[in-house]
Amino acid sequence: MISFYPGPSRVHNEIPRYVTDAFTQGIMSINHRSETFVKMSERTITLLKEKLSIPRNYTVFYTTSATECWEIISQSLVNGKSYHLYNGAFGQKWYDYTQRLHPEAEPFAFDREQQLDARKLNLSTEPGVICITQNETSNGTQVSNRAIRAIRKAYPEHIIAVDATSSMAGVVLDFKAADVWFASVQKCFGLPAGLGLMICSPQALQQAAALGENKHYNSLNVMAEMMAKWQTSCTPNVLGIYLLMRVLEKMPPIAEVHAELEQRYTDWVSFLQKRNVMRHLVDNAAVHSHTVIPVTAEPDMLTAIKKKALKQGLLLGEGYGNWKTTTFRIANFPALKAAEIRTLKNLLKTFD
Ligand SMILES: *Cc1c(COP(=O)(O)O)cnc(C)c1O
Repeated sequence: MISFYPGPSRVHNEIPRYVTDAFTQGIMSINHRSETFVKMSERTITLLKEKLSIPRNYTVFYTTSATECWEIISQSLVNGKSYHLYNGAFGQKWYDYTQRLHPEAEPFAFDREQQLDARKLNLSTEPGVICITQNETSNGTQVSNRAIRAIRKAYPEHIIAVDATSSMAGVVLDFKAADVWFASVQKCFGLPAGLGLMICSPQALQQAAALGENKHYNSLNVMAEMMAKWQTSCTPNVLGIYLLMRVLEKMPPIAEVHAELEQRYTDWVSFLQKRNVMRHLVDNAAVHSHTVIPVTAEPDMLTAIKKKALKQGLLLGEGYGNWKTTTFRIANFPALKAAEIRTLKNLLKTFD
């Protein structure tokens, strides 16, 4: 079965071999305070920064998921105000979670067809955390690096946190333009679920230190103290970190991955333009995600497409939330093979 689900999705072909290596080399049983772990952790983070072009002075943390990152930001960086800019289900979920800890959290929903525009925001000058979902997996839209830079410029004193769960390791992200970036590895990284990554600027860590929140095992201050020694405050997903290291060793620099995915995305758009019974859910191509492609069709047609795909061993992503009965989603993640994409296109063509 080839999974085109936008996460968890197809994993890299090499994963079974890496898992075997981890077993033979005893990685699965190492102690997370051991020299072996520390070296592996340092190497993984060094590779991640190199391959994704993350500024050297940013700190990388291991978490369990993107959801945990929402919680960490809320408990360790928000001090009253947070501003949630979103146009879909994941951004809204982040707002909902934050609101439970901080009732002052403010939602700023924007139109799915519009690029997020710093000039139209009228946020309080009171410092706070601005929360942006860079790639909205539910509806296949994305916020551009340029839009994030404009927000940085308009709100230089705020902490900017970015959910890049379904785009990190697939597209070029301007890490300098925000303070906190996070993702989980079951999307563009092509790895099994169970590991999240959170990347923080020096300003974010200063903010955490100033707030001094340290009540939880995953308080950012506690995590930062451990990460100074390349370690974690609980036993981490050691196998997940090892697999990430092995995948990163083989990964081309992000600019190359980005170019390849952008080409594949462009091909998908022109393919969909030629179809009679389905089309891209979002009209404005300027806001299209390059990694998640939502396709809309009549409910009966949708059911037929998904059923036929499944018969051929292709799993399509269900539509999300309100769009469940009228859309399916196609992951455009690096681990998917050109031949697999061709197979899916040939199948979709049969419905014309
Ligand atoms: C998948 C996803 C999440 C949730 O990731 P978990 O690893 O399940 O916590 C959060 N945000 C976005 C944008 C996602 O695509």
